[in-house]
Amino acid sequence: MKYKNLLKGIPWRFGPNWPGKRCEAKTRKGTPCQRPAKLPVGRCRLHGGASTGTRTEAGLARLAASKTKHGRYTKIEKAKAKARAQIGREIWKELKEIENWGIEHGYLKKNWRKDFYI
Ligand SMILES: [Zn+2]
Repeated sequence: MKYKNLLKGIPWRFGPNWPGKRCEAKTRKGTPCQRPAKLPVGRCRLHGGASTGTRTEAGLARLAASKTKHGRYTKIEKAKAKARAQIGREIWKELKEIENWGIEHGYLKKNWRKDFYI
């Protein structure tokens, strides 16, 4: 069978004298791949492997924005919640001090809370 569109002798762009970096992945034949290595990892498009993810600031920001649903667990919101909890603890501490003062000075019975439960 003869192919009409097959022309022999056309110089290949990435022939043996091509000066660029070549892919060094091992083929199933056992020889190096030798295709032009155009990826940052030094492999061709067939042997580059999985993506290592975004690197630029803009890309990382876009990724974070796409993965954020409501932002309640971001660092800033967690710090705000921690601060609110601390304020609450301080208020409870103050109330306890007032209660103890009232018990000491006879304004409250020792188990005054029990009167409110039936
Ligand atoms: Zn390759």
